[in-house]
Amino acid sequence: MGRTKKAGTAGRFGARYGVTLRQRVAKIEQNMKAKHKCPSCQTKAVRRISTGIWSCRKCGHTFTGGAYIPATDAQKILRSFRERSVSRRTT
Ligand SMILES: [Zn+2]
Repeated sequence: MGRTKKAGTAGRFGARYGVTLRQRVAKIEQNMKAKHKCPSCQTKAVRRISTGIWSCRKCGHTFTGGAYIPATDAQKILRSFRERSVSRRTT
């Protein structure tokens, strides 16, 4: 039961994708809690309000974006995780 703990916040993926990939997801999710650049005023004051919804504290610009980061890089990475996990089963 405790073995998924090492994947941090990505532990919810269970045994899927492999531990290295889940650790990378955990890293992305740490990044998601950090401040992000506003597409409107370019200030790093964007915070996640809820899944896919982001708001700039400086100019008040609210917009939808990726579920984890404002840009969709995380989705791109997650997609490549899945592709790789299919061809690379180590356990
Ligand atoms: Zn802004």
